[in-house]
Amino acid sequence: MKKYDVIIIGGCASGLAAAINAHRIYPELSVAVIEKLPRVGKKILATGNGRCNLSNEQAEKFVYHIYTNDGFAAKVLKKCSVKNTLVFFSSLGLKTYTDGEGRIYPLSNTAASVLDALRAHLDGIDIITGVAVNEIKKQKSGFVLNGEYRCEKLIMAAGGKASPSQGSDGSGYALAGGLGHTVTKLYPALVPLTADPAVTKPLKGVRIHKAKIGLYKNEELIGSSDGEILFTDGGISGIAAMETASAFERNKEKGADIYASIDLVPDIDDIGVFLAALCRENKRDFDTLLTGLMPKAAGIAVLKACGLYSASKSIDELKKKDIENIVNTIHNFRIKVTGTKGFANAQVTSGGVSVKEINPATMESRICENLFFAGEIIDVDGPCGGFNLQWAWSSGLIAGRLGGNGK
Ligand SMILES: Cc1cc2nc3c(=O)[nH]c(=O)nc-3n(C[C@H](O)[C@H](O)[C@H](O)COP(=O)(O)OP(=O)(O)OC[C@H]3O[C@@H](n4cnc5c(N)ncnc54)[C@H](O)[C@@H]3O)c2cc1C
Repeated sequence: MKKYDVIIIGGCASGLAAAINAHRIYPELSVAVIEKLPRVGKKILATGNGRCNLSNEQAEKFVYHIYTNDGFAAKVLKKCSVKNTLVFFSSLGLKTYTDGEGRIYPLSNTAASVLDALRAHLDGIDIITGVAVNEIKKQKSGFVLNGEYRCEKLIMAAGGKASPSQGSDGSGYALAGGLGHTVTKLYPALVPLTADPAVTKPLKGVRIHKAKIGLYKNEELIGSSDGEILFTDGGISGIAAMETASAFERNKEKGADIYASIDLVPDIDDIGVFLAALCRENKRDFDTLLTGLMPKAAGIAVLKACGLYSASKSIDELKKKDIENIVNTIHNFRIKVTGTKGFANAQVTSGGVSVKEINPATMESRICENLFFAGEIIDVDGPCGGFNLQWAWSSGLIAGRLGGNGK
């Protein structure tokens, strides 16, 4: 049996941060990371479209608007802030920049730099790859994993169920459950919606940069977001749509009618006057009437939804009530939502190990001594923009303190 002082299950964002911190603070302890994939950090490489949006400067300021279980997340981010995280990365030799919306990226703009920085600091830590932990036995003191590895302290950083092709297959939840922990209901989050193909198919590939989207269940608002939306063959993608997906999953039930109401032009409020002038001028046709406001295909879809699209009529025949109808439809373009693209395509899992059973000051289990949690396995998640990785770093760095007051 191989014996370690500390074992970390999962060698990606939160697990590598925890391992490096534990080794730095307690160089006298033996530390091992057990990762089921052949290499550590696979998911990091896929983040931010290969650029790794590793944090967001707004994470603490808006913590109560951003994260689920926000009170717990706020305590964790207070203990290990965005600033602490950037100091950690700088100590690994990684510099970052912040874009106009507060999103933080590596200066190189490549996710590989983030993984390189972490991997360069794994000396002295045993990295055991290609081994999936499938059994944990709690001993009087410590834990035995797979009947092969023994440790005094165990950090579970095995991620959630989202994007299982990158290793996170949800096995961590069963392991946590086996140690007495409650796992809340799990939902895919940050994932494209599937929607009425009759509407979305003709719009395939159309991107609206600044839209607002609200999800309604039987006329009640259940989720909303703003930003980019991208129509796909059978659905709606883009950050704004993906951010409403967990609301869909949490509210779906047999027979419930859930639809998206999209404001295609949210920032202009005199569209009626603008359109009336265009119609009077009569220099456009129905195909191009709305191209000053949105992509052509979206404009045609709006006119069709209003029942006003006509190749034969000219636009100066449109009446005042027709223009009102067009304006209302631009601000409330409705599509029936039928589902989401599920865990296979999700960026994050919503739900996880109950925060009631974890001490946010240390990330230690309140019910199993010497067991710590870090990252997505915990019931905390946030929107796009670097918030989920920030959660992974903060919780991982704290877990790596192993209950002490280290960095
Ligand atoms: C395509 C994509 C893009 C994303 N982009 C961003 C972004 O730009 N910014 C952002 O903030 N967030 C982003 N996210 C979310 C972010 O990547 C995750 O929230 C974060 O990686 C979670 O870190 P983690 O260490 O907790 O879990 P994971 O990164 O999922 O790592 C868990 C690790 O544990 C291993 N493992 C699982 N079970 C076992 C087991 N039983 N035994 C051994 N090993 C095991 C897995 O193989 C994996 O390597 C993105 C996610 C995806 C899928």
